[in-house]
Amino acid sequence: MKLLCLRARSGLGMENHSTTQPLNDLTVYMRFAADRMLGKLAKWLRMLGYDTLYSRTLSDDRFLELAEQGRILLSRNTRIVGKMASNRLIIVRGNDPKMQLKGLVRLLGLRPNPNDFFSRCIVCNGLIEPVEPRDVAGKVPDYIWTGHDKFSECTSCGKIYWPGSHLERSRREIERLLSV
Ligand SMILES: [Zn+2]
Repeated sequence: MKLLCLRARSGLGMENHSTTQPLNDLTVYMRFAADRMLGKLAKWLRMLGYDTLYSRTLSDDRFLELAEQGRILLSRNTRIVGKMASNRLIIVRGNDPKMQLKGLVRLLGLRPNPNDFFSRCIVCNGLIEPVEPRDVAGKVPDYIWTGHDKFSECTSCGKIYWPGSHLERSRREIERLLSV
């Protein structure tokens, strides 16, 4: 009910505090920073391939500085409105990360490219690149290594990914979310 109520207010479940420049004037190469309350939304954005910084230990000041580096700030904290003269702040409403993502896609007119899906590490935001199966021998459980022939690895934290049921579920979920 809370989500419905808030969505009715803004139409999208979130507010764009743009004053001078519409956010959708920006390019498709949008980069984001999510506050500590939006970890799941950050993961979804990373799954879509968007460069999204997220840290549970980031201070408010450091978070605000990220806007100066060209990132769009995503926050649930209404108290930071007014701390920055910004067209780069979006206050995210609602508790459901999937609805938050859907609202954000609509608000910014994002057109996620399926070629970019799963190109970033959901853990650290690093880029993921294909690797040979022999390169991950011993780094993944044996039953995974013998059962798959495609692997990729995060260039930053080393996390290894393979096409599995979880990724397939996520892809279907993304397609469902973005199709409406
Ligand atoms: Zn990583």
